[in-house]
Amino acid sequence: PPLRVAIMGLGSYGTRVAEAMKDCKRARLTGVISGTPSKITSWQSKYNIPAKNCYNYENFDAIKDNPDIDAVYVITPNGLHHDQVIRVAKAGKHVICEKPMAVNAKEGQEMVDACKKANVKLLVGYRMHFEPKTLEIVRMRKDGELGKILFFQGLSGFTIGDPTQWRLNKQLAGGGAMMDIGIYSINGARYMIGEEPVWITAQETKTNPQKFKPGVDETIQFEMGFPGGAVASCLSTYNMNNLDRFFVNGDKGFGELQPATGYGPIKGKTNKGELTQPHTTHQTIQMDEMAAIILDGKQPIVPVDGEEGVRDLKIIDAIYQAVKTGKKVELK
Ligand code: NAD
Repeated sequence: PPLRVAIMGLGSYGTRVAEAMKDCKRARLTGVISGTPSKITSWQSKYNIPAKNCYNYENFDAIKDNPDIDAVYVITPNGLHHDQVIRVAKAGKHVICEKPMAVNAKEGQEMVDACKKANVKLLVGYRMHFEPKTLEIVRMRKDGELGKILFFQGLSGFTIGDPTQWRLNKQLAGGGAMMDIGIYSINGARYMIGEEPVWITAQETKTNPQKFKPGVDETIQFEMGFPGGAVASCLSTYNMNNLDRFFVNGDKGFGELQPATGYGPIKGKTNKGELTQPHTTHQTIQMDEMAAIILDGKQPIVPVDGEEGVRDLKIIDAIYQAVKTGKKVELK
């Protein structure tokens, strides 16, 4: 039987996931949680969802008694994830939570603990962790084909529009570009290098303090040092387009992806030539693989569990601390 999923938050990304799930073999959309009755009605007819599987933000704890829903996919603004995930866990359902899983590592850890206590699985919506060209570079690195890794570059950014959107609201977003897009360079560095960073340095540039209020980062460049001697040099921004590139360099070879994280086909090459793995909609592969993780205990090549989400948040906490103090931050 498939993993039966309810989506919480019927916004632009929730819609993208629902469309992608039409092609899933192991995951099926069976419920919705939304504060907007008109969206519920249109999703009901579009995805054939019975009224008994529809909830709002006040009554969704009752999902506990619904045998047609195995997991809830939380796709709401970042600042809401913590409380919503803990409520889902208490209702005894598995949780998939969008990135960033929370707005700091402390909140993330509380979510991990709550899911553990409730004996439900917690996964973070990291879709690149299942992308075939990405995984080919990870395989080459693991098999030693790139040699000793010494450098990673990650460029993650786009120019953000509407200044009134939740992504530019500290309360709902938890920060700025780093929370939203810089996080791709952070976990990209970790799975490409295959180690955890031991120090962070970071510098912030803000050209528009009107649009990017205190606590909402516009542009941060940061460096991460790894125990094996590799260094990652990364840029996170809400003020430049055409920044979506990963480059990993070892003493025997290299891997390069550009675009590295967009929805369209990922393009890339290595020292051996073009990467030719076929493109499948990222969210379709992700949901089928996550169903296998939850239902069969399958081990993904690159982890997507709550602990993995907390590792990224610890790094984000350290980046913000490095920006604030101007000092190098050591990580344990
Ligand atoms: P969005 O604004 O399009 O949708 C957010 C939804 O949450 C809306 O339907 C909104 O009505 C609902 N919502 C519930 N309570 C709200 C409140 N108090 N304030 C505002 N909205 C509220 O945003 P989105 O682009 O769908 O992003 C949602 C989440 O998905 C974010 O965590 C984001 O980082 C993540 N995301 C991930 C990817 C990815 O590739 N993995 C891509 C886009 C977004």
